[in-house]
Amino acid sequence: MIIVMASREKSDVEHVVSRVEEMGYRAHVIWGVERTVIAAVGDERGKHRLTALEALPHVEQVFPILKPFKLAGVEVRHEPSVVEVGGVKIGGGHFCVVAGPCSVESEEQINVTAKAVKEAGAHLLRGGAFKPRTSPYSFQGMEEEGLLLLEKAGKAHGLPVVTEVMTVEQVPLVSAHADMLQIGARNMQNYGLLKAVGQTDKPVFLKRGMMSTINEFLMSAEYIMSEGNPNVVMCERGIRTFETETRNPLDIQAVPVLRKYTHLPVVVDPSHASGHWDLVTPMARAAVAAGADGIMVEVHPDPEVAFSDGQQSLKPEKFQDLMTQIRPLADVMNLTL
Ligand code: PEP
Ligand code: MN
Repeated sequence: MIIVMASREKSDVEHVVSRVEEMGYRAHVIWGVERTVIAAVGDERGKHRLTALEALPHVEQVFPILKPFKLAGVEVRHEPSVVEVGGVKIGGGHFCVVAGPCSVESEEQINVTAKAVKEAGAHLLRGGAFKPRTSPYSFQGMEEEGLLLLEKAGKAHGLPVVTEVMTVEQVPLVSAHADMLQIGARNMQNYGLLKAVGQTDKPVFLKRGMMSTINEFLMSAEYIMSEGNPNVVMCERGIRTFETETRNPLDIQAVPVLRKYTHLPVVVDPSHASGHWDLVTPMARAAVAAGADGIMVEVHPDPEVAFSDGQQSLKPEKFQDLMTQIRPLADVMNLTL
């Protein structure tokens, strides 16, 4: 249920929150520019009791949220959410470029990459330390050591860092060293993991499962938000189809579709979608034009010898060229890049 406040006084809001909680619901306050609402989530059978809150003078209206995703939906928040990662803004007109290698491989590799992507204008540094690989015999990531190298490189070059967390057990360690937690496509419906990152105070980069519908994707964001963490960024990274020419065809339509349903920022990953470096820049251009709030791009100083995803990684000079190509498009779209 949505409780639209007639008053924006903190004490009035707190009063309604305590009433909502007494009735056994979880109350999430959404301080918008045009209105403040309280989303009461929980067992909807008792909704008539919440409706009674309309009797309070500082409550304007109480009505049900119709969509299955409640906190992620536009019903509770009309204006776009802006997620902040170590001072970098994503969404609401702030276009964010996340760049870095698929995996952290060595101190030198992550440093050289961090320097290059920073110089080209990236805002966040990525790099996998815990890698979800199809084969158990493939490189699994440098784990804790990689995490520390990523953190160090990010600090040295003034780039907040995002990296994947694969299990509930890894959440405290990864949260201690990363500015943003990535949930990979393969874990999009790992509900225990979604709840665990929802209980942290770190922003979450949620990637769409390669076989997940947009509704399922939104429900995964809802899992994180329902635990009290409102800072979720959604990432379209391609879906599985009959086509074999590309790795996971980019569902570019997911951008405007998500925009219709959610206030959360939407980012596009053209690297994992295409699987080929030469398709990354055209798809990055498409992402900007489609209205995305950012892109995530894999960059490697020497893709030929990369431990993972070399074929889809851009060399630093190609990444620089990508940035040059998207700048005028960002201007047309009224985005700060
Ligand atoms: C990644 O970003 O390194 C990654 C593994 O992506 P995805 O989960 O989208 O496959
Ligand atoms: Mn990768």
